[in-house]
Amino acid sequence: MNFRGKLVDTSQVVTVQTDGEKIAAIHRREAGDAIGGDDVWIAPAIFDVQVNGVGGINYKAKDLTVEKIVETAAWMHRTGTGLWCPTVTTSSEEDAVHGLALLAKACEESEVARASFVGFHVEGPYIASEDGPRGAHPLAHVRDPDWDEFQRYQEAAGGRIAIFTLAPERDGALEFIEKVAATGVIVSIGHSGASPERIQEAVAAGAQMSTHLGNGAHAELPRHPNYIWEQLAADALWAGIIPDGFHLPPAVLKSFYRAKGKERLCLVSDVASIAGLSPGIYGSESGLGQSELHANGKISLAGTPYLAGAGLFLDSGIPNAVRFTDASLSDAIEMTSINPARLLGIEDRVGSVDVGKEASLSLFRWEDGQEKLDVVATVVRGQVVYQAA
Ligand SMILES: [Zn+2]
Repeated sequence: MNFRGKLVDTSQVVTVQTDGEKIAAIHRREAGDAIGGDDVWIAPAIFDVQVNGVGGINYKAKDLTVEKIVETAAWMHRTGTGLWCPTVTTSSEEDAVHGLALLAKACEESEVARASFVGFHVEGPYIASEDGPRGAHPLAHVRDPDWDEFQRYQEAAGGRIAIFTLAPERDGALEFIEKVAATGVIVSIGHSGASPERIQEAVAAGAQMSTHLGNGAHAELPRHPNYIWEQLAADALWAGIIPDGFHLPPAVLKSFYRAKGKERLCLVSDVASIAGLSPGIYGSESGLGQSELHANGKISLAGTPYLAGAGLFLDSGIPNAVRFTDASLSDAIEMTSINPARLLGIEDRVGSVDVGKEASLSLFRWEDGQEKLDVVATVVRGQVVYQAA
């Protein structure tokens, strides 16, 4: 198949020719049957390492099914997201194992799930109990790290857990980090109120990332030192950040971008399961109360100013990163393609538009100032999984 568009790094118009699952050639000649066009951007598929669910389907729901999981793929592909880490958040062991086992089953039974899910992200339950850092995670299920339980999770997931978010201040966390990191899983610091010293110890033990840095934090903190500065300054830590314009004010997003550098940042949507639905009030996911999805994509705890998850996908996050920082489109795309690929150690397979790599692409129209990408097509391993009408 042939895909036509401007490469985001050079603006050069090319035809990307695929053969089966891979990119076979990239050349300037036109191909009559190509999807895309000279006014379309052609980028590596948007890769989002934190997706809790979408379209009303939560990856930790008790009534989750393989069919519903496959349905989430269609929702994501419409946003230009081709690759993501389904994320299972704090719950009882039974519910977490249920969700992970079904996600694994979906990968075994569905080609589209197998191609799109590049590893699972488990966020919690070994996070801070305190209000603030705990965010919307249910207190009843928050607990100390348990290596045996982690192994049961990984077994249910068929070894697909790629990122594990925890709070390093929990009892036994440092030993746990060492063991988990030794298995090749990325340990990420999140929903944590750890002291700066404990952050350093976690890094020494093998933590490699910060989950949605600047969120899942106290509303008020000592100006310095504190765990946000400490993680921002730790060069060993990658950071996931939510560029929806609500979770981090534009000035914070810009400062994080400048301080961490684009090489160590991954833009994540962290979308809640009601993302993609029409604006309105929906039942509780967190047990904290109903969630209100606003027309601008913000999700709040109904009747309060408090955020209750994210409602914007990276088709908004990428333009936001360009609007709020000094990142170019190409920089923003790197933070949603090659960076997550490097984080997970799969950059030889995915993350860029290069001959020999998997043909996973996002094609979209976008002009400077536009708040959302206008997705033309999404391609995953050579298959056109979404094409705009
Ligand atoms: Zn979170």
